[in-house]
Amino acid sequence: MTAPQPLIAGNWKMNGLSASVAEAKAVAAGLGQTPARVAICPPSILIHRLADALKGTPVLVGGQDHHWDDAGAFTGDISAEMLADAGAKLAILGHSERRAGYRETDEVVAQKVSAALRAGLEPIVCVGETLEQRQAGDTLAVVTGQTRGSLPADLRGKAFAVAYEPVWAIGTGLTPTLEQIEEVHKAIRATLVEQFAEEGRKVPILYGGSVKPGNAAEILHAAEVGGALVGGASLKAEDFLGIIRAL
Ligand code: PEP
Repeated sequence: MTAPQPLIAGNWKMNGLSASVAEAKAVAAGLGQTPARVAICPPSILIHRLADALKGTPVLVGGQDHHWDDAGAFTGDISAEMLADAGAKLAILGHSERRAGYRETDEVVAQKVSAALRAGLEPIVCVGETLEQRQAGDTLAVVTGQTRGSLPADLRGKAFAVAYEPVWAIGTGLTPTLEQIEEVHKAIRATLVEQFAEEGRKVPILYGGSVKPGNAAEILHAAEVGGALVGGASLKAEDFLGIIRAL
């Protein structure tokens, strides 16, 4: 079976104003030939603007989260269909900042994944251990448990990605060793095959956590790494392009 096409997605988190559309355009302008699919996930209020600005380019736009329900009395929330209607093609779900800050459980993440599929969005489902869990030797149990619990059966036959993001590596400048990354990615792959049989081999498993132009090449070429989810270094086109070019 051929390896899945790599995906490199930028997660702008709660950063970016209308002037940031220029950074997204600079990514598209500088992209050139790449084997990767490239996506930028800005705050939802910028999705429409980025989708318009990137029309006709290969750069996709994604959301960072959405509600598990399709519509209704959820003040301040946004649905998957709204993201798709604004031009998003993907959605990051289960990010550790949502799991920790908004108490999102695997069950909630799985419901959001189903909502994404109903709206035609491609979910990028995040999993990852905290430092305490790693130090306690629980990394593989935590990550495979989150993978099993956050991926509903209706993903069968659908395009999606899993992102391994060790919580202690996000925004800290710390990264796991290549051996640690490969160990976890292999465990996620085995879980995907257990859940989705041969289809599970086609799912890109992204690495996320302090990816920068300087460490991207070795991470992106590690075994079972099918791309990257990039936070801080996706905010500047030059840095994000440096990561994409490392593939
Ligand atoms: C993220 O939050 O998804 C992330 C990977 O952040 P950073 O690259 O800044 O560590």
